[in-house]
Amino acid sequence: YCKVNGRNNKLFYSPKMNQSYNDLILLEGELRKALANNDLALYYQPKVDVKSGQIIGMEALTRWFHNEKGFIPPTRFIPLAEETGIISQLSEWVIREACEQNVSWIKKGFKPLQIAVNISASDLQRVNFARTINQILQETGLPAAYLELEITENSVMQNTEDCIQTMNDLREMGVSLSIDDFGTGYSSFWYLRKFPINHLKIDQSFVRDVTTESGNAKIVKAMIQLAHTFGLKVVAEGVEEPEILQFLTEENCDYYQGYYFSRPTTSDNFEKLLEMTQTIE
Ligand code: C2E
Ligand code: MG
Ligand code: MG
Ligand code: MG
Repeated sequence: YCKVNGRNNKLFYSPKMNQSYNDLILLEGELRKALANNDLALYYQPKVDVKSGQIIGMEALTRWFHNEKGFIPPTRFIPLAEETGIISQLSEWVIREACEQNVSWIKKGFKPLQIAVNISASDLQRVNFARTINQILQETGLPAAYLELEITENSVMQNTEDCIQTMNDLREMGVSLSIDDFGTGYSSFWYLRKFPINHLKIDQSFVRDVTTESGNAKIVKAMIQLAHTFGLKVVAEGVEEPEILQFLTEENCDYYQGYYFSRPTTSDNFEKLLEMTQTIE
């Protein structure tokens, strides 16, 4: 890997990234610009109650529509942001934007829902992270109960004591926490015992083939039972077909997300979805 001088953060380059080192440096500059110019947008995907079919919350997902390059997927710019340290600024922007949007929906009279935001490992390792979240909640006026932070299982590995402290602080404030992409990391069981989490999100790689792969079906079944044993609610990710929803209903999964109900969509479209499914008081 290359270490870029003059910065605190290492920039890892692996051939897997399939782009030249120069391209990465360029993209980094453009990501900084995009953040400064507010060129990023949040899309929202509903979280749906398996039994009732009601929208019970939403996940905010960052979108970058580049002037010349077009759509750049988060799987490309989030790792870049993490490697270059831009992630702290990006996460703060995402959390603030999501909180503001959620407050605006609540003010319009929609039933208050919990908004989920993805954060990175390095966010949890920043000393002031919980305080920053508290400040954003104060400034935007969103009650902590309507914010959830999603942490990818792989990302919580390092510096665990600090991470757990920050997680405890967040929980004390009333913020919810979930483990994202559950099953794809290493110490799943350990997390369940050690981390103050509310929700467990089963990775879509298990959910996708649940009706055709008996192995996946067994894994998902076991994960749901395991989560329930620990008093956690389970979210299944990547539900694209009614057969899969049927399976999740039979297995007592609590919530789901997926193209079957809705793709992630603009705030305007998400609001239309709320209008269609809720009656404004
Ligand atoms: P994630 O948090 O696990 O988000 C779920 C991903 O699955 C999203 O991809 C979503 O669009 C996609 N998805 C939802 N339903 C379906 C479905 O039925 N079928 C399929 N094939 N896909 C579905 P997206 O938006 O491309 O984001 C990818 C990942 O990038 C996210 O995975 C998350 O880890 C990361 N990410 C996105 N936005 C942010 C952000 O603001 N901050 C951070 N730290 N990470 C982010
Ligand atoms: Mg997520
Ligand atoms: Mg996920
Ligand atoms: Mg993911």
